[in-house]
Amino acid sequence: MCAADNPQSWVLCPQCDLTVKLPAVPIGSRARCPRCHTTLTANWHEPQKRPTGYAFAALFMLVLANLFPFVNMHVAGLSSEISLPEIPNVMVREDYSSLATLFLLFVQGIPAFCMVTIILLVNRIRMPHHLRLVLARILFQLRNWGMAEIFMAGVLVSFVKLMAYGELGLGISFWAWCLFCVLQLRAFQVVDRRWVWQQIAPLPALPHAPKAGISGLQHGMKRCSCCTAILPVAQNHCSRCGVVVHARRPHSLQWTLALLVTSLLLYLPSNIMPIMVTETLGTQYPSNIMAGVILLWSDGSWPVALVIFIASIMVPSLKMLAIGWLCWDASGRGQHDSEKMHLVYEVVEFVGRWSMIDVFVIAVLSALVRMGRLMSVYPAPGALLFALVVILTMFAALAFDPRLTWDRVRKTERKEPRLDGQSSGHC
Ligand SMILES: [Zn+2]
Ligand SMILES: [Zn+2]
Repeated sequence: MCAADNPQSWVLCPQCDLTVKLPAVPIGSRARCPRCHTTLTANWHEPQKRPTGYAFAALFMLVLANLFPFVNMHVAGLSSEISLPEIPNVMVREDYSSLATLFLLFVQGIPAFCMVTIILLVNRIRMPHHLRLVLARILFQLRNWGMAEIFMAGVLVSFVKLMAYGELGLGISFWAWCLFCVLQLRAFQVVDRRWVWQQIAPLPALPHAPKAGISGLQHGMKRCSCCTAILPVAQNHCSRCGVVVHARRPHSLQWTLALLVTSLLLYLPSNIMPIMVTETLGTQYPSNIMAGVILLWSDGSWPVALVIFIASIMVPSLKMLAIGWLCWDASGRGQHDSEKMHLVYEVVEFVGRWSMIDVFVIAVLSALVRMGRLMSVYPAPGALLFALVVILTMFAALAFDPRLTWDRVRKTERKEPRLDGQSSGHC
Protein backbone atom coordinates (compact mmCIF):
# COMPACT_ATOMS: atom_id res chain seq x y z
CA MET A 1 0.00 0.00 0.00
CA CYS A 2 1.47 3.38 -0.93
CA ALA A 3 1.61 6.15 1.70
CA ALA A 4 -1.09 8.15 -0.11
CA ASP A 5 -3.60 5.34 0.40
CA ASN A 6 -2.54 4.38 3.92
CA PRO A 7 -5.55 5.15 6.16
CA GLN A 8 -3.14 5.81 9.07
CA SER A 9 -1.73 8.82 7.20
CA TRP A 10 -5.05 10.62 6.81
CA VAL A 11 -7.41 12.25 9.25
CA LEU A 12 -10.56 14.34 9.09
CA CYS A 13 -10.55 17.07 11.74
CA PRO A 14 -13.33 16.40 14.30
CA GLN A 15 -14.01 20.13 14.69
CA CYS A 16 -13.78 21.56 11.16
CA ASP A 17 -13.85 18.43 8.90
CA LEU A 18 -10.64 19.45 7.10
CA THR A 19 -8.83 16.60 5.34
CA VAL A 20 -5.29 16.48 6.71
CA LYS A 21 -2.36 14.31 5.64
CA LEU A 22 -0.45 13.41 8.78
CA PRO A 23 3.35 13.55 8.70
CA ALA A 24 5.45 11.23 10.88
CA VAL A 25 4.68 12.57 14.38
CA PRO A 26 7.83 12.41 16.55
CA ILE A 27 7.54 10.77 19.98
CA GLY A 28 6.33 13.30 22.54
CA SER A 29 4.66 15.52 19.93
CA ARG A 30 1.15 16.05 18.71
CA ALA A 31 -0.28 17.09 15.38
CA ARG A 32 -2.76 19.96 15.27
CA CYS A 33 -5.24 20.87 12.58
CA PRO A 34 -3.79 23.65 10.37
CA ARG A 35 -7.19 25.37 10.22
CA CYS A 36 -8.78 25.18 13.70
CA HIS A 37 -5.76 23.98 15.76
CA THR A 38 -7.60 21.01 17.32
CA THR A 39 -5.28 18.18 18.38
CA LEU A 40 -5.61 15.45 15.74
CA THR A 41 -3.30 12.82 17.20
CA ALA A 42 -0.44 12.51 19.69
CA ASN A 43 2.50 10.13 19.69
CA TRP A 44 3.18 9.42 23.35
CA HIS A 45 6.27 7.79 24.75
CA GLU A 46 5.23 4.43 26.33
CA PRO A 47 1.57 4.70 25.25
CA GLN A 48 0.72 1.58 27.27
CA LYS A 49 2.74 1.92 30.47
CA ARG A 50 2.16 5.60 31.21
CA PRO A 51 -1.66 5.66 31.13
CA THR A 52 -1.67 2.40 33.13
CA GLY A 53 0.64 3.86 35.79
CA TYR A 54 -1.34 7.09 36.13
CA ALA A 55 -4.71 5.29 36.15
CA PHE A 56 -3.60 2.77 38.83
CA ALA A 57 -2.16 5.56 40.98
CA ALA A 58 -5.36 7.62 40.55
CA LEU A 59 -7.54 4.65 41.60
CA PHE A 60 -5.33 4.03 44.65
CA MET A 61 -5.71 7.69 45.67
CA LEU A 62 -9.48 7.48 45.12
CA VAL A 63 -9.70 4.52 47.52
CA LEU A 64 -7.57 6.39 50.12
CA ALA A 65 -9.72 9.50 49.70
CA ASN A 66 -12.81 7.49 50.61
CA LEU A 67 -11.33 5.77 53.67
CA PHE A 68 -10.19 8.65 55.90
CA PRO A 69 -11.60 11.96 57.20
CA PHE A 70 -11.79 14.63 54.51
CA VAL A 71 -12.16 17.92 56.40
CA ASN A 72 -13.18 19.04 59.88
CA MET A 73 -14.50 22.20 61.46
CA HIS A 74 -14.53 23.56 65.02
CA VAL A 75 -16.98 26.27 66.07
CA ALA A 76 -17.50 27.44 69.66
CA GLY A 77 -16.46 24.13 71.24
CA LEU A 78 -18.47 22.04 68.76
CA SER A 79 -16.73 20.06 66.05
CA SER A 80 -17.81 18.39 62.84
CA GLU A 81 -15.86 16.02 60.63
CA ILE A 82 -16.81 14.55 57.27
CA SER A 83 -15.50 11.87 54.97
CA LEU A 84 -16.25 11.83 51.24
CA PRO A 85 -18.94 9.08 51.36
CA GLU A 86 -20.84 11.14 53.97
CA ILE A 87 -21.52 13.99 51.52
CA PRO A 88 -24.06 12.05 49.39
CA ASN A 89 -25.41 10.38 52.59
CA VAL A 90 -26.32 13.76 54.07
CA MET A 91 -28.03 14.78 50.83
CA VAL A 92 -30.12 11.60 50.81
CA ARG A 93 -31.14 12.27 54.44
CA GLU A 94 -32.22 15.79 53.44
CA ASP A 95 -34.42 14.35 50.65
CA TYR A 96 -32.03 15.43 47.90
CA SER A 97 -31.26 12.01 46.45
CA SER A 98 -31.10 13.64 43.01
CA LEU A 99 -28.17 15.87 44.05
CA ALA A 100 -26.53 12.88 45.81
CA THR A 101 -26.81 10.88 42.56
CA LEU A 102 -25.25 13.72 40.53
CA PHE A 103 -22.44 13.99 43.09
CA LEU A 104 -21.72 10.25 43.06
CA LEU A 105 -21.90 10.08 39.29
CA PHE A 106 -19.85 13.14 38.26
CA VAL A 107 -17.35 13.30 41.11
CA GLN A 108 -16.62 9.66 41.84
CA GLY A 109 -18.39 7.24 39.45
CA ILE A 110 -17.37 8.59 36.04
CA PRO A 111 -13.68 9.32 36.87
CA ALA A 112 -13.33 5.86 38.50
CA PHE A 113 -15.02 4.12 35.55
CA CYS A 114 -12.74 5.97 33.10
CA MET A 115 -9.59 4.96 35.00
CA VAL A 116 -10.61 1.26 35.05
CA THR A 117 -11.53 1.43 31.35
CA ILE A 118 -8.18 3.02 30.43
CA ILE A 119 -6.35 0.18 32.22
CA LEU A 120 -8.47 -2.49 30.49
CA LEU A 121 -8.15 -0.99 27.02
CA VAL A 122 -4.52 0.08 26.81
CA ASN A 123 -3.36 -3.26 28.24
CA ARG A 124 -5.61 -5.24 25.92
CA ILE A 125 -7.04 -7.28 28.81
CA ARG A 126 -8.86 -10.32 27.43
CA MET A 127 -12.61 -9.68 27.09
CA PRO A 128 -15.33 -10.21 24.46
CA HIS A 129 -14.69 -8.01 21.40
CA HIS A 130 -18.16 -6.46 21.69
CA LEU A 131 -17.48 -5.37 25.29
CA ARG A 132 -14.17 -3.83 24.25
CA LEU A 133 -15.96 -1.81 21.55
CA VAL A 134 -18.60 -0.61 24.03
CA LEU A 135 -15.99 0.44 26.61
CA ALA A 136 -13.93 2.35 24.03
CA ARG A 137 -17.08 4.07 22.73
CA ILE A 138 -18.09 5.20 26.23
CA LEU A 139 -14.60 6.21 27.46
CA PHE A 140 -14.07 9.24 25.21
CA GLN A 141 -17.66 10.42 25.48
CA LEU A 142 -17.50 10.51 29.28
CA ARG A 143 -14.35 12.59 29.37
CA ASN A 144 -16.12 15.94 29.91
CA TRP A 145 -18.50 14.54 32.52
CA GLY A 146 -15.92 13.68 35.15
CA MET A 147 -15.85 16.63 37.59
CA ALA A 148 -13.31 15.65 40.25
CA GLU A 149 -11.28 18.86 39.81
CA ILE A 150 -14.42 21.04 39.85
CA PHE A 151 -15.42 19.45 43.15
CA MET A 152 -11.94 20.29 44.44
CA ALA A 153 -12.47 23.94 43.47
CA GLY A 154 -15.86 23.78 45.25
CA VAL A 155 -14.14 22.50 48.42
CA LEU A 156 -11.67 25.41 48.35
CA VAL A 157 -14.47 27.95 47.88
CA SER A 158 -16.37 26.36 50.83
CA PHE A 159 -13.27 26.76 52.98
CA VAL A 160 -13.04 30.46 52.27
CA LYS A 161 -16.76 30.81 53.02
CA LEU A 162 -16.35 29.02 56.37
CA MET A 163 -13.08 30.57 57.51
CA ALA A 164 -14.93 33.48 59.14
CA TYR A 165 -17.06 31.13 61.29
CA GLY A 166 -14.62 28.65 62.75
CA GLU A 167 -11.41 26.69 62.56
CA LEU A 168 -10.97 24.33 59.63
CA GLY A 169 -8.72 21.28 59.40
CA LEU A 170 -7.70 19.08 56.47
CA GLY A 171 -7.77 15.28 56.73
CA ILE A 172 -5.61 12.68 54.93
CA SER A 173 -8.36 12.20 52.34
CA PHE A 174 -8.15 15.81 51.26
CA TRP A 175 -4.54 15.36 50.13
CA ALA A 176 -5.34 11.99 48.55
CA TRP A 177 -8.16 13.69 46.62
CA CYS A 178 -5.79 16.44 45.36
CA LEU A 179 -3.46 13.77 44.01
CA PHE A 180 -6.40 11.84 42.51
CA CYS A 181 -7.48 14.98 40.59
CA VAL A 182 -4.03 15.51 39.09
CA LEU A 183 -3.41 11.81 38.30
CA GLN A 184 -6.77 11.21 36.61
CA LEU A 185 -6.32 14.31 34.42
CA ARG A 186 -2.84 13.13 33.47
CA ALA A 187 -4.05 9.57 32.73
CA PHE A 188 -6.58 10.98 30.27
CA GLN A 189 -4.02 13.32 28.74
CA VAL A 190 -1.58 10.53 27.84
CA VAL A 191 -4.17 8.35 26.09
CA ASP A 192 -4.45 8.94 22.35
CA ARG A 193 -7.82 7.99 20.88
CA ARG A 194 -6.37 6.91 17.53
CA TRP A 195 -3.79 4.68 19.23
CA VAL A 196 -6.41 3.05 21.49
CA TRP A 197 -8.67 2.26 18.52
CA GLN A 198 -5.76 0.94 16.50
CA GLN A 199 -5.15 -1.61 19.30
CA ILE A 200 -8.78 -2.75 19.06
CA ALA A 201 -9.15 -3.03 15.29
CA PRO A 202 -7.26 -1.74 12.22
CA LEU A 203 -8.58 1.27 10.30
CA PRO A 204 -10.78 0.36 7.33
CA ALA A 205 -9.38 1.10 3.84
CA LEU A 206 -9.97 4.60 2.50
CA PRO A 207 -12.98 4.85 0.14
CA HIS A 208 -10.81 6.65 -2.44
CA ALA A 209 -7.66 8.79 -2.56
CA PRO A 210 -8.23 11.78 -0.24
CA LYS A 211 -7.29 15.35 -1.10
CA ALA A 212 -5.71 17.50 1.59
CA GLY A 213 -7.02 21.01 2.25
CA ILE A 214 -10.74 20.52 1.57
CA SER A 215 -13.48 19.27 3.89
CA GLY A 216 -14.29 15.56 4.01
CA LEU A 217 -17.83 16.23 2.83
CA GLN A 218 -16.54 17.99 -0.31
CA HIS A 219 -14.98 14.76 -1.57
CA GLY A 220 -17.59 12.32 -0.28
CA MET A 221 -16.00 11.25 3.02
CA LYS A 222 -17.04 11.47 6.65
CA ARG A 223 -15.33 10.83 9.96
CA CYS A 224 -16.59 8.32 12.51
CA SER A 225 -17.07 10.46 15.64
CA CYS A 226 -16.29 7.44 17.81
CA CYS A 227 -13.18 5.73 16.38
CA THR A 228 -11.95 8.44 13.91
CA ALA A 229 -12.15 6.11 10.85
CA ILE A 230 -12.71 7.75 7.45
CA LEU A 231 -15.77 6.35 5.69
CA PRO A 232 -17.68 7.02 2.46
CA VAL A 233 -20.60 9.45 2.97
CA ALA A 234 -23.10 6.83 1.80
CA GLN A 235 -22.08 4.29 4.48
CA ASN A 236 -24.39 4.42 7.52
CA HIS A 237 -22.51 2.27 10.05
CA CYS A 238 -18.81 2.38 10.88
CA SER A 239 -17.11 -0.83 9.77
CA ARG A 240 -14.65 -0.62 12.69
CA CYS A 241 -16.71 0.34 15.77
CA GLY A 242 -20.26 -0.25 14.52
CA VAL A 243 -21.81 3.11 15.49
CA VAL A 244 -24.15 5.05 13.22
CA VAL A 245 -22.07 7.72 11.47
CA HIS A 246 -23.40 11.05 10.18
CA ALA A 247 -21.49 13.50 8.01
CA ARG A 248 -23.13 16.21 10.15
CA ARG A 249 -25.18 15.60 13.32
CA PRO A 250 -28.81 15.32 12.16
CA HIS A 251 -31.05 18.24 13.26
CA SER A 252 -28.07 19.64 15.19
CA LEU A 253 -29.38 23.23 15.35
CA GLN A 254 -32.92 22.16 16.31
CA TRP A 255 -31.65 19.93 19.14
CA THR A 256 -29.27 22.61 20.38
CA LEU A 257 -32.00 25.26 20.40
CA ALA A 258 -34.51 22.94 22.11
CA LEU A 259 -32.01 22.20 24.91
CA LEU A 260 -31.08 25.87 25.13
CA VAL A 261 -34.73 26.97 25.53
CA THR A 262 -35.29 24.30 28.23
CA SER A 263 -32.23 25.48 30.16
CA LEU A 264 -33.40 29.10 29.82
CA LEU A 265 -36.79 28.15 31.30
CA LEU A 266 -35.04 26.62 34.32
CA TYR A 267 -32.43 29.38 34.61
CA LEU A 268 -34.78 32.06 35.90
CA PRO A 269 -36.31 30.02 38.79
CA SER A 270 -32.85 28.62 39.65
CA ASN A 271 -31.66 32.19 40.26
CA ILE A 272 -34.73 33.34 42.16
CA MET A 273 -35.32 30.27 44.37
CA PRO A 274 -33.02 29.65 47.35
CA ILE A 275 -30.11 27.31 46.66
CA MET A 276 -29.42 26.74 50.37
CA VAL A 277 -30.83 27.49 53.80
CA THR A 278 -28.54 28.57 56.64
CA GLU A 279 -29.84 28.04 60.18
CA THR A 280 -28.14 30.22 62.81
CA LEU A 281 -29.31 30.20 66.46
CA GLY A 282 -32.67 28.73 65.49
CA THR A 283 -33.46 31.19 62.68
CA GLN A 284 -33.48 30.01 59.08
CA TYR A 285 -32.06 32.21 56.30
CA PRO A 286 -32.77 31.00 52.77
CA SER A 287 -30.36 32.45 50.18
CA ASN A 288 -30.17 32.37 46.40
CA ILE A 289 -27.01 32.61 44.26
CA MET A 290 -26.94 36.42 44.04
CA ALA A 291 -27.63 36.85 47.77
CA GLY A 292 -24.67 34.52 48.49
CA VAL A 293 -22.40 36.63 46.26
CA ILE A 294 -23.52 39.90 47.93
CA LEU A 295 -23.02 38.42 51.41
CA LEU A 296 -19.49 37.25 50.57
CA TRP A 297 -18.66 40.63 49.05
CA SER A 298 -19.92 42.55 52.09
CA ASP A 299 -17.96 40.19 54.40
CA GLY A 300 -14.79 41.21 52.58
CA SER A 301 -14.29 37.83 50.79
CA TRP A 302 -14.45 39.53 47.41
CA PRO A 303 -12.13 37.06 45.58
CA VAL A 304 -14.53 34.18 46.40
CA ALA A 305 -17.54 36.40 45.66
CA LEU A 306 -15.97 37.04 42.27
CA VAL A 307 -15.33 33.31 41.63
CA ILE A 308 -18.96 32.43 42.50
CA PHE A 309 -20.27 35.39 40.45
CA ILE A 310 -18.23 34.39 37.40
CA ALA A 311 -18.90 30.63 37.70
CA SER A 312 -22.58 30.75 38.67
CA ILE A 313 -23.98 33.89 37.07
CA MET A 314 -21.71 35.17 34.32
CA VAL A 315 -20.62 31.85 32.77
CA PRO A 316 -24.11 30.27 32.46
CA SER A 317 -25.64 33.49 31.05
CA LEU A 318 -22.81 34.09 28.59
CA LYS A 319 -22.75 30.41 27.68
CA MET A 320 -26.45 30.46 26.77
CA LEU A 321 -25.95 33.64 24.74
CA ALA A 322 -22.92 32.09 23.00
CA ILE A 323 -24.81 28.88 22.10
CA GLY A 324 -27.65 30.98 20.66
CA TRP A 325 -25.08 33.02 18.68
CA LEU A 326 -23.42 29.83 17.35
CA CYS A 327 -26.80 28.50 16.14
CA TRP A 328 -27.68 31.84 14.55
CA ASP A 329 -24.30 32.00 12.80
CA ALA A 330 -24.33 28.35 11.69
CA SER A 331 -27.78 28.81 10.12
CA GLY A 332 -26.11 31.18 7.62
CA ARG A 333 -27.07 34.56 9.09
CA GLY A 334 -23.76 35.52 10.72
CA GLN A 335 -20.67 37.34 9.49
CA HIS A 336 -19.17 34.11 8.15
CA ASP A 337 -16.12 34.43 10.39
CA SER A 338 -15.50 30.73 11.07
CA GLU A 339 -12.34 31.22 13.13
CA LYS A 340 -14.06 33.57 15.55
CA MET A 341 -17.09 31.29 15.89
CA HIS A 342 -14.81 28.31 16.47
CA LEU A 343 -13.11 30.17 19.33
CA VAL A 344 -16.56 30.88 20.83
CA TYR A 345 -17.40 27.17 20.56
CA GLU A 346 -14.15 26.09 22.22
CA VAL A 347 -14.68 28.51 25.12
CA VAL A 348 -18.29 27.30 25.56
CA GLU A 349 -17.12 23.66 25.59
CA PHE A 350 -14.34 24.34 28.10
CA VAL A 351 -16.02 26.57 30.67
CA GLY A 352 -19.50 25.03 30.75
CA ARG A 353 -18.98 22.38 33.42
CA TRP A 354 -17.14 24.76 35.78
CA SER A 355 -20.50 26.29 36.71
CA MET A 356 -21.07 23.18 38.84
CA ILE A 357 -18.76 24.73 41.48
CA ASP A 358 -21.68 26.28 43.37
CA VAL A 359 -23.56 22.96 43.50
CA PHE A 360 -20.48 21.29 45.01
CA VAL A 361 -20.05 24.17 47.47
CA ILE A 362 -23.58 23.49 48.74
CA ALA A 363 -22.79 19.75 48.94
CA VAL A 364 -19.71 20.39 51.11
CA LEU A 365 -21.37 23.05 53.29
CA SER A 366 -24.49 21.00 54.00
CA ALA A 367 -22.39 17.96 54.95
CA LEU A 368 -19.84 19.81 57.09
CA VAL A 369 -21.90 22.52 58.78
CA ARG A 370 -24.11 20.34 61.02
CA MET A 371 -24.05 21.88 64.44
CA GLY A 372 -27.72 21.79 65.27
CA ARG A 373 -29.33 25.09 66.14
CA LEU A 374 -25.97 26.85 66.52
CA MET A 375 -25.28 26.69 62.81
CA SER A 376 -26.46 24.32 60.07
CA VAL A 377 -26.66 24.47 56.27
CA TYR A 378 -29.25 22.61 54.15
CA PRO A 379 -29.60 22.35 50.37
CA ALA A 380 -32.67 24.00 48.78
CA PRO A 381 -34.57 23.35 45.48
CA GLY A 382 -32.70 26.11 43.56
CA ALA A 383 -29.51 24.01 43.76
CA LEU A 384 -31.10 21.12 41.87
CA LEU A 385 -32.55 23.48 39.23
CA PHE A 386 -29.16 25.14 38.81
CA ALA A 387 -27.43 21.75 38.40
CA LEU A 388 -30.01 20.90 35.70
CA VAL A 389 -29.29 24.21 33.90
CA VAL A 390 -25.57 23.38 33.81
CA ILE A 391 -26.22 19.83 32.56
CA LEU A 392 -28.70 20.98 29.89
CA THR A 393 -26.30 23.63 28.55
CA MET A 394 -23.58 20.95 28.41
CA PHE A 395 -25.95 18.77 26.36
CA ALA A 396 -26.79 21.78 24.16
CA ALA A 397 -23.06 22.34 23.44
CA LEU A 398 -22.72 18.60 22.67
CA ALA A 399 -25.70 18.68 20.30
CA PHE A 400 -24.13 21.53 18.31
CA ASP A 401 -22.03 20.32 15.38
CA PRO A 402 -18.95 22.61 15.19
CA ARG A 403 -18.33 21.55 11.57
CA LEU A 404 -21.38 23.61 10.55
CA THR A 405 -19.47 26.85 11.25
CA TRP A 406 -16.74 25.77 8.81
CA ASP A 407 -18.92 24.45 6.00
CA ARG A 408 -18.95 27.78 4.11
CA VAL A 409 -15.10 27.83 3.93
CA ARG A 410 -14.37 26.22 0.58
CA LYS A 411 -10.58 25.87 0.71
CA THR A 412 -7.88 26.37 3.28
CA GLU A 413 -4.53 27.81 2.35
CA ARG A 414 -2.25 25.99 4.76
CA LYS A 415 -2.51 22.23 4.35
CA GLU A 416 0.31 20.99 6.55
CA PRO A 417 -0.65 20.10 10.16
CA ARG A 418 1.22 21.86 12.94
CA LEU A 419 3.46 19.69 15.11
CA ASP A 420 3.72 20.69 18.76
CA GLY A 421 6.39 19.20 21.03
CA GLN A 422 5.29 18.17 24.50
CA SER A 423 7.98 18.91 27.01
CA SER A 424 6.87 16.14 29.35
CA GLY A 425 6.52 13.60 26.54
CA HIS A 426 9.70 11.69 27.39
CA CYS A 427 9.55 11.72 31.15
ZN1 LIG B 1 -9.77 21.50 12.22
ZN1 LIG C 1 -16.05 4.03 14.06
